[in-house]
Amino acid sequence: MMNIVIRVNEETKKKMITYYDDKKRDNTPPYAIFQADEEDTVITLYESGKAMFQGISADVDAKMWQEINKQPTTYQPTKVKDYYYISAIGSDEVGTGDYFGPIVVTASYVNKKDIPHLEELSIQDSKQMTDDKILEIVPKIIKKIKYASIMLTNKEYNKRYGTTLNMNKIKAILHNKVILELMKKHQLKYDHIIIDEFAKEKKFFEYLKEVPLVVKEVTFLMKAENKNLSVACASIISRYIFLKEMDKLSQSLDIELPKGAGPQVDKIGKEIITKYGYEKLSTVAKLNFKNTERILKDN
Ligand code: MN
Repeated sequence: MMNIVIRVNEETKKKMITYYDDKKRDNTPPYAIFQADEEDTVITLYESGKAMFQGISADVDAKMWQEINKQPTTYQPTKVKDYYYISAIGSDEVGTGDYFGPIVVTASYVNKKDIPHLEELSIQDSKQMTDDKILEIVPKIIKKIKYASIMLTNKEYNKRYGTTLNMNKIKAILHNKVILELMKKHQLKYDHIIIDEFAKEKKFFEYLKEVPLVVKEVTFLMKAENKNLSVACASIISRYIFLKEMDKLSQSLDIELPKGAGPQVDKIGKEIITKYGYEKLSTVAKLNFKNTERILKDN
């Protein structure tokens, strides 16, 4: 039986109160804020900032909070009480706004206990993180957490989706598929499945009407990548795969493919047509974007 005492700051105190909220005992010892049970460990947090851990794996829990306590408070996600300190499966996609390159959707699983480690890597949404940073930290993240990704190539996109399906339906199909894939591969204990909201819940399930197997009990959150680390991880893993694929496509064409859908994209599109013809363009671009018209107009 171990008995470990550490000191924590105000910030960590707040985090502990949230974290153990659903594990609190009814009775609180004198001068304590709460006493809680998690698995074999009894945790007591005192007003003074003293935190006591008792039990056979007390060192594991104490170490986790010691690390959180050491952290500089640079990363400030919107810690929505119910969705931050939980174990979750989260999914997010990239490439839907880029003319060149695939659509990548990832579902990742973050256990509550992985949160301190991920915070240390200062995980953020892929939109707030530079590509260099993403290339540096994703290899570290995927060593730690479970994930599944789907890449929809431009060829498949143009064949199956280009004209008839709208982008939100594509997203719904791919999010559903990748979440189920992750759940099939691993036995996961989670509190919520969180999808970064791109459509209303009702619409999401409407899009999946013809899909035989549909994930149940999904939580849709706006800006979910800021509220839960499983979504943040899904976002940057997707971006990582997207960047690697863009590199590959650029090399195969010997032309550096730009991201987004702006004027530079049109310029490069024209260059591809001149050099290789339309057929080639259809293997690296999403043809139903307005860019295609502009690219073809002056050629
Ligand atoms: Mn998103």
